[in-house]
Amino acid sequence: MSGLETSRKKVKYLDEYRNEVIARGVAAELARRVTRPWVLMEICGGQTHTLMRYGIDEMLPRGIELVHGPGCPVCVTSLETIDKAIEIAARRDVTLISYGDMLRVPGSRTDLFHVKAQGGDVRVVYSPTEALKFARANPDRKVVFFAVGFETTAPANAMAVWQAKREGLRNFSMLASHVLVPPAIRALLSSPRNRVQGFIGPGHVCTVMGCREYQDLIREFHVPIVVGGFEPLDLLEAILMLVTQLEEGRAEVENQYVRSVTPDGNAPARKILAEVFEVCDRKWRGIGGIAESGLRLREPYAEFDADRIFGTEALTAAEPAECISAEVLQGLKKPTDCSAFGKACTPERPLGAPMVSSEGACAAYYKYRRFAIAAKESA
Ligand code: SF4
Repeated sequence: MSGLETSRKKVKYLDEYRNEVIARGVAAELARRVTRPWVLMEICGGQTHTLMRYGIDEMLPRGIELVHGPGCPVCVTSLETIDKAIEIAARRDVTLISYGDMLRVPGSRTDLFHVKAQGGDVRVVYSPTEALKFARANPDRKVVFFAVGFETTAPANAMAVWQAKREGLRNFSMLASHVLVPPAIRALLSSPRNRVQGFIGPGHVCTVMGCREYQDLIREFHVPIVVGGFEPLDLLEAILMLVTQLEEGRAEVENQYVRSVTPDGNAPARKILAEVFEVCDRKWRGIGGIAESGLRLREPYAEFDADRIFGTEALTAAEPAECISAEVLQGLKKPTDCSAFGKACTPERPLGAPMVSSEGACAAYYKYRRFAIAAKESA
């Protein structure tokens, strides 16, 4: 029996997914299987933080390099989308409602916190349902929900717009900037600079979407993808599964996160997504435009599209040159390669989104004191 199967049988409760003895067993199995260097990318920012928080990156055998992908929704929301939110929030007749992280993300000139400090009505919620409630209770306000994120958060946002249409709620709209994981992986693998040889897929996205849509990527690029969870043992197992495939010359979609992900995902969530949103080209912060990598409201829901209502569709913005988040998010550089890391750029005074977000790779390196990684790897 492999180490992987052994650990799967042994764990059931959440605290067991953090069991150091089992983790060390999986790491030992990993060390036995590795014969050469591999570069692996975890897509999701939540996974990045687990890897850092539990020191998994430091447990891995020499030669396995982890790079951190574009899976933090705050980090990849384009600068111009932030600028649009800021412009809309500054209007006296608008209440802009968002998740907390978005308030600190720097736009071209300011951020939503400063708009709030200057009298803008900017509020933080934990779900779009709260924004709907606020709109119902305040018919004299134009209520705009700032909706960002991957396939994970999109169904709840789709449901909010669907509900608003059903109720005829005229004062509710959405500034939607959703992004999709598979086109981002395709863009990374198509780049001549790509270094990634295997991906830990995002478990929460696949809980909604299933994992069948990753088969096309495997056929096209012959790079293994293992859908992983968010606990330390989940990630160690996913790494072990990836390395096993790579060492055996296989490239398949495998599912480590079987307690949550099924091949077809969540059918009702996918249905409401398809009803309200359609695929569109999307600009990713730091990375640029990726074809068919976003979701926008379909035409029957255009009356809820804040971009159209407030005339911000044509707004563009140039990204600051000093932030190398583009290369960090593509796995080409580590946060510690950035000259601003921990100096001009800190969580208190972030220059780029990966230092703002609780899921950002730069914030993870700063919080978990990975200051010397570059020096250690080059030694
Ligand atoms: S440390 Fe700051 S400036 Fe450097 S890449 Fe990260 S967010 Fe950008």
